[in-house]
Amino acid sequence: MQKKVIAVAVFFAALLVFLTHLGARATATPVFTYASEEKCVYLTFDDGPSTVVTNRILDTLKKENVKATFFIVSDRAKSRKETLLRIAEEGHTVGIHSATHRYSEIYASLQSLLQDVTACADFIHSVTGITPRVYRFPGGGFHRAKETQFLKEKGYQIVEWNASCRDEEIVNATPQRLFEETVATALGKNRVVLLMHDSAPHKATADALPLIISYFREQDFSFCSF
Ligand SMILES: [Zn+2]
Repeated sequence: MQKKVIAVAVFFAALLVFLTHLGARATATPVFTYASEEKCVYLTFDDGPSTVVTNRILDTLKKENVKATFFIVSDRAKSRKETLLRIAEEGHTVGIHSATHRYSEIYASLQSLLQDVTACADFIHSVTGITPRVYRFPGGGFHRAKETQFLKEKGYQIVEWNASCRDEEIVNATPQRLFEETVATALGKNRVVLLMHDSAPHKATADALPLIISYFREQDFSFCSF
């Protein structure tokens, strides 16, 4: 009988030591360490959909089994509903960019901004059934503190970028040049949000995409979407 009591006491003592050890480990290892060290690239495309370029980009993403985020201009999507639907059906994130992409109208007031965002969101919903929550400001929102705060309060997630292939800035850039700009602007970053465009003039971006994907793969990045 006494032996049994000792055995039980030893068992609980061992359990206590084990749990204390476990607790110490848990507090010593911050939960987010791995996540912050993990390399992650978000491929983002603005200003589409276009017919040829967007579909070529989707073909590459499908072949490479990579998911991306597309920030849509809904006025341009009206005649390309199949392409918008394809983006959603193939598992990419559909984000809001604008209805019109006309800065003077969008940024005339907070009310006009909200109208533009809502029109784009409603169109996306009517075609795909998705209620989009991620948003990218036309022209970028780095200097738009007031508008950013306003849209955050409306429940939107604002997405900027910290790397770019610079396809809007460099006229007639070759795919190689867009690839090099991507590498240069992403260098040293663990979390890369890469800006690209899939509107009609950007065939070189579609051509550069396979190079860009293999580069990030070689550098051990995961492909993330919003
Ligand atoms: Zn844009």
